[in-house]
Amino acid sequence: DIQPIRRALLSVSDKTGLIDLGRALADRGVELLSTGGTAKALREAGLEVRDVSDVTGFPEMMDGRVKTLHPMVHGGLLALRDNDDHRAAMETHGIGAIDLLVVNLYPFEETVAKGADYDTCIENIDIGGPAMIRAAAKNHAFVNVVVDVADYEALLAELDANDGGTALAFRQRLAQIAYARTGAYDAAVSTWMAGALDDSAPRRRAVAGTLAQSLRYGENPHQAAAFYTDGSARPGVATATQHQGKELSYNNINDTDAAFELVSEFAAGDGPAVAIIKHANPCGVARADTLIDAYRRAFDCDRTSAFGGIVALNGPLDGATAEEIAGIFTEVVIAPEADDDARAVFAAKKNLRLLTTGALADPRAAALTIRQVSGGYLMQDKDTGFVTEADLKVVTKRAPDAREMADLLFAWKVAKHVKSNAIVYARDGATVGVGAGQMSRVDSANIAAIKAQRMADVLGLPESPAKGAVVASDAFFPFADGLMEAAAAGATAVIQPGGSMRDAEVIAAADEAGLAMVFTGLRHFRH
Ligand code: 5GP
Repeated sequence: DIQPIRRALLSVSDKTGLIDLGRALADRGVELLSTGGTAKALREAGLEVRDVSDVTGFPEMMDGRVKTLHPMVHGGLLALRDNDDHRAAMETHGIGAIDLLVVNLYPFEETVAKGADYDTCIENIDIGGPAMIRAAAKNHAFVNVVVDVADYEALLAELDANDGGTALAFRQRLAQIAYARTGAYDAAVSTWMAGALDDSAPRRRAVAGTLAQSLRYGENPHQAAAFYTDGSARPGVATATQHQGKELSYNNINDTDAAFELVSEFAAGDGPAVAIIKHANPCGVARADTLIDAYRRAFDCDRTSAFGGIVALNGPLDGATAEEIAGIFTEVVIAPEADDDARAVFAAKKNLRLLTTGALADPRAAALTIRQVSGGYLMQDKDTGFVTEADLKVVTKRAPDAREMADLLFAWKVAKHVKSNAIVYARDGATVGVGAGQMSRVDSANIAAIKAQRMADVLGLPESPAKGAVVASDAFFPFADGLMEAAAAGATAVIQPGGSMRDAEVIAAADEAGLAMVFTGLRHFRH
């Protein structure tokens, strides 16, 4: 199943490595065919090339929309070399076999990322390239197709190992990669068009992605993994600049995303805010007048869990705050910016990764989230829901006072980013107990209270900081028991969606306990 390569068609937008490849092929006696710009580059390097327009008998036309879409090209790619009819057709029409196709596509994704206008994006949809790639990949029994500059070296190595030919297994792998590329390319076009049509609905979508990084392993060391980017310009872990430290791991990327998305809920007007994340859940979130105080308060919420955590900040990281963060083992720090002092502090911490994003993410920006189940994907709009004080409905006899109200809104923002069932105690703009991911809301309330008590023990507080705190629940209390758990812990005000069959019972229990309670009418499940 070794097939020789005698004739190659090269047509590339990204001309990186082109000359070396062209020369290496020519040295091995391969005839080169090429399209306009590619042929020009090869010729300028002194290589002998035949123009595709010479082969087709047609000039490249319509601004390059039609260059290679011709039977002389597609026949050469698709003909089965061992089929008499196909060979006869080649003979009759003078079609020469093409054994190697090297194509990389018009940079559609990059054009979109640059914010180009509609017409420019449209012009950057490659038509002839994907057509050739798909043709060559289908005919991998005989034809090699290379769509990635990174694979040039492997191609030449394969040729050397097989006396100028390639093995079937090699061509099959190339074909598989080729279809991944054309699939992702069309998905990117469709995703861009959905955006251009202002249609974020998760219907009739194809999932696009570009391999950004092969990861050392996945959630566990025995799982292979990779990171794909979807081309979105959203500030966050996928688009951030990493200034130091080793490569992010699968879990790091997941947790860093959770941290940055959470801290981005606090815009400039909210003042400095910090979130510390462990296993995708916050173990401390706080606002304060300064970033360093916000960090200290977030850290105080759960000092034990913060060890080895991911820290996200909503403002430019300064040296003093960096010093404070560097005081304990921290995996990743992500912030919109980091000043020179901060970088100097972290430079001594070789293992700590520092990422800057340039800006906060917009928690209201429409996007899709995807998760996998066995046999499929679930796709939905990202949870961009939010409430302001005006949206809240006071349902108890007592209304929250101003301090409680501020804390209720704070706790609600945090609860959105806690795995369900989520219970968050907060006080003076800082979490004091987070109960996450329990199968029962009562247990989450209980765990949050236990954590608050532990905070009192660790910090030597006279009583649990949950006493006098507010509590947020990501979904309604189906019974009064979860609410009573929070009241027993000392919470004085409650924020929750409402909407339970037993709301009346829950409200009566709140009144009985002297709690102030507001309904959001909005749920923030996060599973
Ligand atoms: P060149 O720089 O050689 O002029 O153009 C190379 C690019 O043209 C490659 O990205 C290739 O995918 C693309 N291409 C090749 N044939 C066609 C065609 O028939 N139509 C369009 N739209 N693009 C083509």
